[in-house]
Amino acid sequence: MKYDMTAIKYLEPSFLPLAKNRKSYTCPVCGSGTGPNGSGMTSKNGEYWKCWSCGQSYSKVELFRIQNSLSYKDAYIGLLRYYGIVPVPARADARQPPVWLSREEMEALGFFNGQIQIRHKDGTQALCSLTNLFSDDPATYYSMVMARAEEMMQKYETIFHACGNRNSPQAGLVYDYMGKSFNDASYQKIKQELARKTSICKKVMDLYAKRIKGISK
Ligand SMILES: [Zn+2]
Repeated sequence: MKYDMTAIKYLEPSFLPLAKNRKSYTCPVCGSGTGPNGSGMTSKNGEYWKCWSCGQSYSKVELFRIQNSLSYKDAYIGLLRYYGIVPVPARADARQPPVWLSREEMEALGFFNGQIQIRHKDGTQALCSLTNLFSDDPATYYSMVMARAEEMMQKYETIFHACGNRNSPQAGLVYDYMGKSFNDASYQKIKQELARKTSICKKVMDLYAKRIKGISK
């Protein structure tokens, strides 16, 4: 079983005795650091520690395991506990779920809290979580997100063209979009933001177009 070691990745191996020079740590394999010149193990990144006498680099888990004669499993758990962290097994399925959209993507697509408005055949509407929608029917999920991306891209384009043009029939959309922060100086900024959101929508559309092909095979 693997454990999430992220929290301790760059911490010093303070479970080891300090070497005589008090700038490095004593090697639990060969004892380097206790000798007359007192130089022990050093590290560039805190993750791996090199013993200049053994000539080897060790991870902190390995050092802790050797120091305390433990199995790997007990070394992982013991090391985390040493740093005051509750050991949490790293789940094998901790990969990104296929539904995963970043906060930026959610924002560009106009999804709030990962939910989408669904219109049922009888005309009623309901909010449905994207994750549930995906697990019910991936094809529907992909096509709904793609439809939304297209809709938002059109909206962004309309606002983009109306931006800075007070006589445009769509000028109202610009005001709605900008809200209270509206002022003439923000047009350029808004246009950049619209372009950014449009490219995000486009990226999601392309990605989902591939995925939907993948499942229809
Ligand atoms: Zn050594």
